[in-house]
Amino acid sequence: MDLLTISFIIPAHNEADNLENVMKAINEEMRQQHYAYEVIFIDDGSTDETIDVIRKLVFTFQEVKYVSFTRNFGKEAAILAGLQHATGAAVIIMDADLQHPAYMIPEFLKGFEEGYDQVVAKRNRKGDSRIRSALSVIYYSLINKTVDVQLTNGEGDFRLLSRIAVNALLQLSEGNRFSKGLYSWIGLEQKNISYENVVRGKGDSKWSFAALLNYGVDGIVSFNNKPLRLCFYMGSFILLLALFYIGTTFVQILKHGVDVPGYFTTISAVLFLGGVQLVSLGIIGEYIGRIYNETKKRPHYLIQQSNIEQVTEKREKN
Ligand code: UDP
Ligand code: MG
Repeated sequence: MDLLTISFIIPAHNEADNLENVMKAINEEMRQQHYAYEVIFIDDGSTDETIDVIRKLVFTFQEVKYVSFTRNFGKEAAILAGLQHATGAAVIIMDADLQHPAYMIPEFLKGFEEGYDQVVAKRNRKGDSRIRSALSVIYYSLINKTVDVQLTNGEGDFRLLSRIAVNALLQLSEGNRFSKGLYSWIGLEQKNISYENVVRGKGDSKWSFAALLNYGVDGIVSFNNKPLRLCFYMGSFILLLALFYIGTTFVQILKHGVDVPGYFTTISAVLFLGGVQLVSLGIIGEYIGRIYNETKKRPHYLIQQSNIEQVTEKREKN
């Protein structure tokens, strides 16, 4: 009887110092399982020796496959490439920096065997900076009030997806991918498991504060148009206030004549309205920018080299 295959997807951007350890850890776990497996490394435009390390691993482990991008396209694109090239009955997505511990693999597989389509590992935020954890808590409580899908703090890409879930994700062709939202959008039955946060292996996190902020905005506007609606309500409310103000003042002027003061009210009205307009324009711009990006229909990534045959981005084209 043929064994089922599990595909590991490992996005890697400048992770030369970590990849060998990741591969060894996976191999260690999978040797004790009754599955065949493949490990797909996606070299996301690394500028260090990542690709050399991967090619060395190809010689040692027959399970290693790789896709190497022409430049850095971002983790979302790397994961998408992994999903498109995976052949397994299930995939497990893991970071390359050893922050996603391989000892979770048996638990993932257990969930898979129990019939779940998504098995999600949630981490606590031990070792994260206080500010970052506090900001995350605020962000998630805010986003879950506005967005149409539910997102959970601490749940990320570290998860197992069944073939059904993978195929569902591959049907979502948007250029601007916010995977956390996509995982939730496809639905399907999910099992949650948890693990202790681990500090990074070698190298630095690729998340600067600005990158996190951008990611946060993506999360909000990728999944609804409520911010646009909010602009509309805010605008209407302020318009009503303004009409009321103009009406009453006009009556006052008819009754008592004009008096000079009013500098304060004028300036505050100008500033306030200016602010509201800028915010609204910003939100509209955000959506238009996205429409612009989607209409270009560019591929999510370009491949420079790979050891996987028939490299096609076939699902991109329709
Ligand atoms: N990564 C990637 N492309 C990027 C940035 C990151 O493929 O442009 C990979 C990185 O190599 C790692 C994973 O995504 O395997 C998570 O990145 P990182 O550790 O920097 O993020 P954090 O763990 O701090 O959220
Ligand atoms: Mg990391």
